[in-house]
Amino acid sequence: MSQNPILSRLRRQARIGHVLVGGGAPIVVQSMTNTDTADIAGTVAQVADLHRAGSELVRITVNTLEAAQAVPEIRNKLDAMGVDVPLIGDFHFNGHKLLTQVPECAQALAKLRINPGNVGRGEKRDEQFATLIEIACKYDKPVRIGVNWGSLDQELAARMMDENARLAEPADAKDVMFRAMIASALQSARRAEELGLGADKIILSCKMSGVQDLITVYRDLASQCDYPLHLGLTEAGMGSKGIVASTAALAVLLQEGIGDTIRVSLTPEPGESRTKEVQVAQEILQTMGLRAFTPLVTACPGCGRTTSTVFQELALKIQTWLRGQMPAWRGVYPGVEDMKVAVMGCVVNGPGESKHANIGISLPGTGEVPVAPVYVDGKKTVTLKGDRIAEDFQAIVEDYVRSHYGAEKI
Ligand code: SF4
Repeated sequence: MSQNPILSRLRRQARIGHVLVGGGAPIVVQSMTNTDTADIAGTVAQVADLHRAGSELVRITVNTLEAAQAVPEIRNKLDAMGVDVPLIGDFHFNGHKLLTQVPECAQALAKLRINPGNVGRGEKRDEQFATLIEIACKYDKPVRIGVNWGSLDQELAARMMDENARLAEPADAKDVMFRAMIASALQSARRAEELGLGADKIILSCKMSGVQDLITVYRDLASQCDYPLHLGLTEAGMGSKGIVASTAALAVLLQEGIGDTIRVSLTPEPGESRTKEVQVAQEILQTMGLRAFTPLVTACPGCGRTTSTVFQELALKIQTWLRGQMPAWRGVYPGVEDMKVAVMGCVVNGPGESKHANIGISLPGTGEVPVAPVYVDGKKTVTLKGDRIAEDFQAIVEDYVRSHYGAEKI
């Protein structure tokens, strides 16, 4: 499975720090911090966490003078830690002032994100937008023009609604609003180019909070321009609702070749790690066969044939362990992210599914002999039994990784 080659080939390519976006480059995972950017230590720690989890770009809010002044320091501290993830500054309302007052902030960022609906009102809007673009040109930074359903340019929307009302057969108000979203992005991009920003320095987004709305708007947006597109369902929500809604929307568009960077905007549950959104974004891309990030575990859902929790615990333990190993494995075991591991609950589908994985284990179901055959590259190699099945299986996986992906691979 792959992206629609026609649409993906038509996109321009932009460079955000060392990360390429669009033009056939792999779809990039990005995330955003929820720390106060003025809190340098807290922001550095969260950016590093997000990057360790696999975020290839991280966006930070720049909303105050203190936050703008903190940005160069955050960049320096991350560099000192060896965290080279490009930082994107998110600007609303006062971005023109902050970047003028603190040019080091612009220099330290790899990209500026501007929301045309939140740049200013009336004449000031044009002036302030121009200031932001001039700063981007001066420091050679790409810009994401990020329109958001919740903060659409009201003057543009009102004008388009008035024009529509004067038509003999006015369009549905929602359609006009969708068109206003796209017009806001495209007109801002055109203006940015007139102000001197290269077309290869522009990335667009038009985020919506409804799944069908997002699909409709991005299909139209993709057909009307060749800028790389950042894709995400805004305000996706919490828990499974946020994950399901984001996946439903992104999967349809990604399958059509639309989306060059993605973010899954989850509201963390209290105490939940911010890195969950990175994991979900990676899993969307990996389960669609568009990219590989970490070995995935195939596990059966369980049923009346396996009434103990042993296999559920093993599946969870192995998946968590595999994900935890990836920061260290990534550089040492190239290709390990493609490895498939199966953990199955009984002999009905266990051996078959295990044979399709690189390594699989089929645990004993209720009433079956308490042994667990292990399959490596489709062949049964050993049968585990006793209290240490989990540990023994993990050791087999480790051996496999070393021997198949390490420097001494066979
Ligand atoms: S593999 Fe066995 S335990 Fe798992 S769902 Fe199928 S029949 Fe049930």
